[in-house]
Amino acid sequence: MPYCPNCLFEYREGIAVCPDCGTALKPGPPPVSGSADLPRPETEPVVLCRISDSTEADIIRAALTEAGIPCALRAHGPIQSRLVVVTDGHAVDDYTAILVPGNRLQEARVVLEAVRSAPVEWPEGMEPGE
Ligand SMILES: [Zn+2]
Repeated sequence: MPYCPNCLFEYREGIAVCPDCGTALKPGPPPVSGSADLPRPETEPVVLCRISDSTEADIIRAALTEAGIPCALRAHGPIQSRLVVVTDGHAVDDYTAILVPGNRLQEARVVLEAVRSAPVEWPEGMEPGE
């Protein structure tokens, strides 16, 4: 099927010039439209959050998996993006980045929010005092 390189429309065999713009048609299928300004691949991993507590990382990963969102943990990010996380007054320069596909980031944030806002279930006798 010939196509117009200007309009990217396909035309029937036998047509030599685009009826719309007059450009000479090229043989073959049109290229993927808008390939010049395609966004980054939607599945490219992006950092959802950084966590210094491996237990919390496991909880979040389990919640993401439960929600059907693929995720990966990466211990220690690239040096230039390392953050110092302060917990309980102690600086922790050790963290795990949770990566999710870019096109699932919004969903993953909702899951993350739900995990973090869930009440902590303290074992019997371990409730922190008021
Ligand atoms: Zn055309």
